[in-house]
Amino acid sequence: WKTMPPTLAHLLTAARVHGDRPFTIHEEERVSYEANHRAVGALATYLRSQGIGPGDRVALAMRNLPEWPMAFFAITVLGAICVPLNAWWTGGELAYGLADSGARLLIADGERHERIAPYRPSLPDLKAVLVARATTAMPDEERLESVIGTPADWSGLPGGDLPTASIMPDDDATIFYTSGTTGAPKGAVGTHRSLLTNILSSAYSAARTALRRGEMPPVSKPRVALTVIPMFHVTACSAHLMAAVAGGSTTIFMRRWDTVRAMEIIERERVTVTGGVPTIACQLLDHPDRARYDLSSLEAIAYGGAPAAPDLAERIHQTFGALPACGWGMTETSATVTHHGGEDYLNRPTSAGPPVAVADLKIMDTNGTSECPRGMVGELWSRGPMNARGYWNKPEATAETFVDGWVRTGDLARLDEEGFLYIVDRAKDMVIRGGENIYSIEVENALYDHPAIVEAALLGRPHRVLGEEPVAVVHLAPGASAGEVDLQAWLRERLAAFKVPVAIRFLAEPLPRNANGKIVKRDLRALFEPSV
Ligand code: ATP
Ligand code: MG
Repeated sequence: WKTMPPTLAHLLTAARVHGDRPFTIHEEERVSYEANHRAVGALATYLRSQGIGPGDRVALAMRNLPEWPMAFFAITVLGAICVPLNAWWTGGELAYGLADSGARLLIADGERHERIAPYRPSLPDLKAVLVARATTAMPDEERLESVIGTPADWSGLPGGDLPTASIMPDDDATIFYTSGTTGAPKGAVGTHRSLLTNILSSAYSAARTALRRGEMPPVSKPRVALTVIPMFHVTACSAHLMAAVAGGSTTIFMRRWDTVRAMEIIERERVTVTGGVPTIACQLLDHPDRARYDLSSLEAIAYGGAPAAPDLAERIHQTFGALPACGWGMTETSATVTHHGGEDYLNRPTSAGPPVAVADLKIMDTNGTSECPRGMVGELWSRGPMNARGYWNKPEATAETFVDGWVRTGDLARLDEEGFLYIVDRAKDMVIRGGENIYSIEVENALYDHPAIVEAALLGRPHRVLGEEPVAVVHLAPGASAGEVDLQAWLRERLAAFKVPVAIRFLAEPLPRNANGKIVKRDLRALFEPSV
């Protein structure tokens, strides 16, 4: 632990050594490490003058802009708690996050500010707002630009020294909300240590991937990352941004995901790594104009957060010559807990990898009373310094999920002999048909093997006698028609009879996903009610 920066302030101070190297690129704006440092210093000094200090919550509601990491560091180097809010949320949902966290100050972009404005009278804790790139007229003291100037000014800002604050590694640093895939989002409280742990974890994982290929570990090679997952998601901030700052890497933001635009950027900036969620990799692979772009700079395509089709690793490897990598993690574990890339992943394409160096995993029976033998499916529990310390303001949910240093993940999984993790389902999504367990991911993977299928999800629908029965929802590739594909016959050849869905629903449009690219089964069920 002695080599790891103990707090976010130490990390940022150390990163100044990267000087003129580009830190973020957003459209035509390029921000160097030095310029970022100066802007953080100016903003932190301002926040302190507004009385922000240790333990205060400051919310951040912004799409991926260079101001996002600036604000993140300005808040956390003061010992205050940064509360990133989901930029996809409606005004009411943003107000929920502000009220739940008791934020004193909000830093928002123009769009988010407009959404929140009607709710301000109902938020007594919220004393001030700073708006970046305002879309409506507003007083000077509410404009972020009046504190740090516009992008053209950042490199010319004076000094950039950070105000000093007394922070300990286990102090609270962030409240990240879960994706809300299974219910209302919960705020998981991360500490300086839990976020920074990812630097060490990703260094060890990269070393492992390289060594398995007979190469030297890429200790200090800066990367150029096209980061398309939102920064308000713990993976982007904790797994990606922390490692990027430590290694002097460049992070490129896009206004919104667009496959052609992404390929242009990869070609122009010689991007070395992209991904985020499996869908991004699929969209790059499936694009008809892919061959028109020079994507040869790509060294790795890495993702997690949702199940990936079993052939994805091989397709990435064959098509781009890049290393596929995947991992598992959750907001409650400050992102990455398992990870593998290259040969390890190609050889085990349905695994999410072995635990990172600092993590312990165990598989427990679903009552949480005893550990399952190796190879058996049960609930995954995860322990280590990356774990959040609990949910904000939710003592009951905290007591249920955070048990003796472990996080009960709510995911069903097994570990193989070598300790590689296989996620089989979320406990809430498993279908129990007459006492037999059907794991969604197994059935979905069998569907993904069918060439006509682009997206698939398994749901349970109530059955009077059996309790539940499985129903699949699929979205077909352009040109394929429901009449021509007999999916049940396809599945009968691949799965035990009780796992074969009793009905298949064809959805003309892509399946509903949330901001983090996950299929929201709740919404799918609602779509088919009352029949599913
Ligand atoms: P909520 O907890 O609010 O319902 P969420 O669980 O989707 O939302 P996150 O913390 O963003 O919120 O996601 C973590 C979950 O994502 C994990 O518990 C797991 O179900 C899923 N997940 C993450 N990585 C993988 C993976 N590699 N394979 C399958 N599922 C994954
Ligand atoms: Mg969850």
